[in-house]
Amino acid sequence: MSTDCIFCKIVAGEIPCYKVYEDEHVLSFLDIGPLSKGHTLVIPKHHCVTLDEIPVEQMAAVGRLLPKLGPAVAQSVGAAGWNVLQNNGPVAGQVVMHVHFHIIPRNEGDGLGYRWPAGELDKNEAPRLLEAITERMGH
Ligand code: 5GP
Ligand code: ZN
Repeated sequence: MSTDCIFCKIVAGEIPCYKVYEDEHVLSFLDIGPLSKGHTLVIPKHHCVTLDEIPVEQMAAVGRLLPKLGPAVAQSVGAAGWNVLQNNGPVAGQVVMHVHFHIIPRNEGDGLGYRWPAGELDKNEAPRLLEAITERMGH
């Protein structure tokens, strides 16, 4: 628990939320500023900032929940699809510094989405890139 963290306060019941789901590892609640109707957040209860810091058991609980909760949220608002969005770091759009996953119901023509200016994979650079990633994975 981080005392100045708004999501830890929600976990502790010090700030109210519209609770969608809870178990010993995770909590899910409606986003207060929804991008679309039904926009739901899923958080591990343990305070950590980015995805790589989530204790493995809590990440497993998130993994168990998302495939069930995503369709349930989308169907409950009659959405045709849904995004899972997860931002790590301010530069990636993270505002609340307690790791969280967004479930965002989507419909044709809803105007959501983001610019996706796709580049082209540099095939000369790719082998070095693979090496750099593999090295950091430690095996
Ligand atoms: P981020 O940009 O960090 O990925 O997203 C943070 C999300 O948390 C936003 O969508 C915002 O609306 C939501 N949020 C921030 N404060 C609260 C709160 O006090 N209660 C709830 N339910 N959602 C919040
Ligand atoms: Zn927290």
